[in-house]
Amino acid sequence: MARVMGYRGGYTPQDRRRIESEMFEGKLMGIIATTALELGVDIGSLDAVITVGFPYTIANLRQQSGRAGRRNKDSMSVLVGDCFPTDQYYMQNPDEIFTKPNGELQVDLQNMLVLEGHIQCAAYEMPIRPDEDAVYFGKNLPEIAEERLQKDELGFFHCHDRFRPVPSKFVAIRDTEEEHFAIVDISHGKNIILEELEASRAFFTLYDGGIFLHQGNTYLVKEFIPERKIAKVELVRVDWTTQQRDYTDIDPIETEAICRIPKSLSRAFYGTIKIQQNVYGYFKLDKKHRILDAVQVDNPPITLFSKGMWLDVPKQALDILQERRLNIAGAIHAAEHAVLSLMPNFVISIPGDVRTECKIGTKEFAKKESSRKRPARLTFYDAKGGASGSGISTKAFEFIDLLLKQAVRRVEACHCHEGCLECVTSEACKHANEVMSKAGSEVILKSLLNMEIDVDALPMGPEEMSPAGIETVVLAQPVLPRGGNRVRVVEINRTESGSEVVVKAEPDY
Ligand SMILES: [Zn+2]
Ligand SMILES: [Zn+2]
Repeated sequence: MARVMGYRGGYTPQDRRRIESEMFEGKLMGIIATTALELGVDIGSLDAVITVGFPYTIANLRQQSGRAGRRNKDSMSVLVGDCFPTDQYYMQNPDEIFTKPNGELQVDLQNMLVLEGHIQCAAYEMPIRPDEDAVYFGKNLPEIAEERLQKDELGFFHCHDRFRPVPSKFVAIRDTEEEHFAIVDISHGKNIILEELEASRAFFTLYDGGIFLHQGNTYLVKEFIPERKIAKVELVRVDWTTQQRDYTDIDPIETEAICRIPKSLSRAFYGTIKIQQNVYGYFKLDKKHRILDAVQVDNPPITLFSKGMWLDVPKQALDILQERRLNIAGAIHAAEHAVLSLMPNFVISIPGDVRTECKIGTKEFAKKESSRKRPARLTFYDAKGGASGSGISTKAFEFIDLLLKQAVRRVEACHCHEGCLECVTSEACKHANEVMSKAGSEVILKSLLNMEIDVDALPMGPEEMSPAGIETVVLAQPVLPRGGNRVRVVEINRTESGSEVVVKAEPDY
């Protein structure tokens, strides 16, 4: 009998109850779990907890460690640091694991877009009285109520029609994903659900001919039916696994908010993002991750929606890149990574919470002219939270000027030549940082901030790793708001004494 089992939220309730009770009764020696085991699961008390990688917050770490410890007995808690900066920070400063206070605010009252969602929900449940309720929602509540809510004759404020009938749908709580895909085991005429996968993971994991792992067993994906949200799998004995090959187009389709970048003509945009994943094949890999075979598939593209922010690359930057023969896709990709890697400095998040469109060599270095032309745009979207997003990119949106400035400083100060993990490459890059132009990223970041660019000091391309060939990038066209909707305009005022973010009424766009 297996003495160690896997455990995640997507397992069927029966499987989870069975694993929990076997753990409780001592039949199992251990469980390898996702954060699904963090809260509310009764598995008795454990002797030891090993956390692999620093979790979301210090509070999560304490929660996880707290699963170990019987009443009067010793317990042990081990944190294994990952390669990410936060992990490494605690590896260098282990004392802070014990002394650092838990994060205080669950809702960031500084963030207008997040705050408004919560106020709309509250007003839906009980009318808001701005003066009395300001203790909960901050001193700007009277203005927000006047501008964003609906007032009745008695002076109470109610949820705006725009958020009805269910305002909570507009407010994402971290890690909640409504869409799930069922993995159905059809081996030997069976027809049972093995587990469920969140939509955001499903497409990286499920495709016809792929290998799906469940409790250490290999299952062949016989049929993936995205419309019905199921994948039929069959138990097979193979000693290889598969890795999907795909490229993803990430496009904003609706502008909801605009943020002017101080002292620049450029603006950041926030709104609905369409994520279209095109799977064109997969690799068969052996246990050492060596490629055994490359298989082509012909699947229709898969489309998901989320929320995110984007920045259109100014024409001036494109002209400079062309003049210096620097790879434009590489410059965009490098700039995206630089911004992405700094987001945790402004928003509580971990690598992977927000994603970007990673550029892929087979597209960008192709020798043939392609009809796939991508807009010159830096795009970021919430990887979690389904169609309403997790709220992380909303928050990053209000720090966009500081994020860009930090990114410029990072890239400028880094002594590497072609880009490294300290500046523009990322371990999370979907396409292994193949298409990169560090020099080009500096041009883009600076032009967004309206900083001076010393064109003569730039290297002359084509760059060795990312040669500029057939152009795959075109000037971005503006994305409109949905018919009838108006956009919010976010003004950032940063002064010596602090900063202020104001959401203006909705002028015509
Ligand atoms: Zn570097
Ligand atoms: Zn990338």
